[in-house]
Amino acid sequence: MKGERQSCFYRCIIEGGTRVLKKIPVAVPVLNGNESKYVMDCIESTWISSNGSYIGRFEQQFADFCGVKHAVSCTSGTTALHLALLAHGVQAGDEIIMPTFSFIATANAVAYCGATPVFADSDPDTWNVDPASIVSKITDKTKGIIAVHLYGHPADMDRINEMAEHYGLFVLEDAAEAIGAEYKGKRTGSLGDSAVFSTFGNKIITTGEGGVFTTNQDELAAKARLLRGQGMDPDHRYWHPIIGYNYRMTNIQAAIGCAQMEKAEWHIAERIRVAGLYGEALQSLEGISLPVQKEWAKHVYWMYSVVLEGATEQQRDLVMRQLLELGIETRPFFYPMHTMPPYRHLQPDEDFPVSMKLCASGINLPSHALLTKEDIQWIADCLAKVLSRC
Ligand SMILES: *Cc1c(COP(=O)(O)O)cnc(C)c1O
Repeated sequence: MKGERQSCFYRCIIEGGTRVLKKIPVAVPVLNGNESKYVMDCIESTWISSNGSYIGRFEQQFADFCGVKHAVSCTSGTTALHLALLAHGVQAGDEIIMPTFSFIATANAVAYCGATPVFADSDPDTWNVDPASIVSKITDKTKGIIAVHLYGHPADMDRINEMAEHYGLFVLEDAAEAIGAEYKGKRTGSLGDSAVFSTFGNKIITTGEGGVFTTNQDELAAKARLLRGQGMDPDHRYWHPIIGYNYRMTNIQAAIGCAQMEKAEWHIAERIRVAGLYGEALQSLEGISLPVQKEWAKHVYWMYSVVLEGATEQQRDLVMRQLLELGIETRPFFYPMHTMPPYRHLQPDEDFPVSMKLCASGINLPSHALLTKEDIQWIADCLAKVLSRC
């Protein structure tokens, strides 16, 4: 792939005499390393289940990459969150503070433990949880904080960690979208007491479905491993001192993960390349705000996102529909979790003005390693055209 970059997306092609529009997808997994070789190795060796050498290898690569002692692989980012919360001892009656602007899994994992998600508002610049909003939610039931590194930009970890220390809370990073992102030179996964990653098909590093829990604390890692494998005593086969889960990653998934991790720096550099091209192509377009990168942060741009200033949800959705007609797939920002049916009874009288505004007016543009400069210029031109009509 070096040197030239061949786009595999054609905006407008002639097929059998008719004009066909091909979509530019928001995300595609890029499997251009040793993925097939390692997967074939699993099949030929018959090590296709959750034993096999790729699992330990993937975990080691992941831990080394994040600069942490332990990485525990599992079936998804969501199960990694569940394992993390259980490892931290979260139980019924506990409150866990998190941004309302995140993917629903962050709250759901808390609900799985019988605990209560408590939502905080976001910072208008980074779109990440606002530490001042966290403080206002702390009660004597608060047990921990989940800091989400949204779309690849790290949360303001020093302020969150200081607060957590002051109130005796744990800090769990939801780094599902932010492998390789840095806070003051330190990588995500190493910034709180523990962290989780997702390796779903659209994430920066993928295993199809999958997740990873990371921590420097031996006890948390041991607990997560125990819970992942049906709670079976590691020194006593078929003896189960606790109720565990089957959250094990397969060797085939880990094989893909090993190949992905060998090229982790490349995958991340590609996201940053794409973001740089968008930044150039969109900088003079009026009426939109572009993602920021704080001076203390390295942003890895899982998604390249723009906010349509002052737009209502309907106006934003119209822009997305018009882009789709031009062959460009986009996604809306997540809906704030406090507005979702399972959670909207929790903080009915509270306002989340920043999140409400962002979530109604934000769009994720196509963000993946196969986008060429021409693709991005085309997307920027289409966005300009659509906005000029609004
Ligand atoms: C993707 C994602 C998850 C869940 O990961 P899965 O692997 O899809 O279960 C959790 N939190 C955030 C912020 C995510 O983006």
